[in-house]
Amino acid sequence: MPKKRVLLLHTGGTLGMIGSPLEPGLFSQVLGDKVPELAQIAQVDTRIVCNLDSSDLGPEEWQALATTIADSRTSYDGFVVVHGTDTMAYTASALAFALRGLDRPVVLTGAQRPLAALRTDARRNLTDAVELATCDIPEVGICFDGLLLRGCRAAKSDARHYRAFESPGIEPIAKLGFDVDVADHVRRPREAFSCDPRFDAGIAVLHITPGLDPLVLERMLDDAELRGLVLIAFGVGTVPTGRRPIAPVIKKAVDRGVDVLVATSWGGIVDLGLYKNSLLLRDAGAIAGGKMRVEAAVAKLMHALATVPDRDERRRYLETDVAGERD
Ligand code: ASP
Repeated sequence: MPKKRVLLLHTGGTLGMIGSPLEPGLFSQVLGDKVPELAQIAQVDTRIVCNLDSSDLGPEEWQALATTIADSRTSYDGFVVVHGTDTMAYTASALAFALRGLDRPVVLTGAQRPLAALRTDARRNLTDAVELATCDIPEVGICFDGLLLRGCRAAKSDARHYRAFESPGIEPIAKLGFDVDVADHVRRPREAFSCDPRFDAGIAVLHITPGLDPLVLERMLDDAELRGLVLIAFGVGTVPTGRRPIAPVIKKAVDRGVDVLVATSWGGIVDLGLYKNSLLLRDAGAIAGGKMRVEAAVAKLMHALATVPDRDERRRYLETDVAGERD
């Protein structure tokens, strides 16, 4: 059987950091020298998209990645994206929303220790990611420490242990042990493939804390450039209603055109109908984000604002599960 074809897109991060900074063309060479077994798994082509700490990555790189994957989709069986861990979950979410009807794997991976370091996790993560990219897993996932997590449900959870990511409330979509065990809940494409990689950066994230002064919030939300807000409320979506009520300020923002999406910081599910302190948020026009954590909520809101001009339709898009991010 001919070898499967995998396109490896390098964006930077700890995995490839030797010398400082690593020169683009060099990465492919280092990769071949340090992980020759990749060639046993698949025919791997490498492309350097950028070579950055992932804290410098954003909508422009998400767009470049999505476009590259869309343009070369039919030439490869799967894709691996090498990425720093700090913002990997944002990029994974952005790709999940930009690439609709995905019919092959897009596997993001990175490492806690560089490829050249002793006891590195880079080598295993890379070989696992390439192997997963040859499997029938049509999702955007994050591969770390033998697990493949749904990208739009994952969050970085550790900077020192090799298990750097978690996806609370959802089992890994694949586990790599003796065999590669692919879970039953892997998504299947529900529509024809399409790519819309536009993102609107005019959003902010606000974490509600006890005692937050509504006046401070009101001034923040008054920025004319602000088109969207990801609100991290308490629990399933509650906010203070007593001495310093938050909902009236949110209502004001919604009324002046800001889309407010409520997300969870702890991996639960937002339910704006459960408590009086969450109902007020719903009545103010805030949108419940389901199981979306901040990373997925940020990427989806940016995508919604850029790609769905009609406000009612945009709300429907945000309230609909499109990549396994909400349910
Ligand atoms: N600061 C690095 C990055 O996100 C950390 C890592 O690669 O794990 O690019």
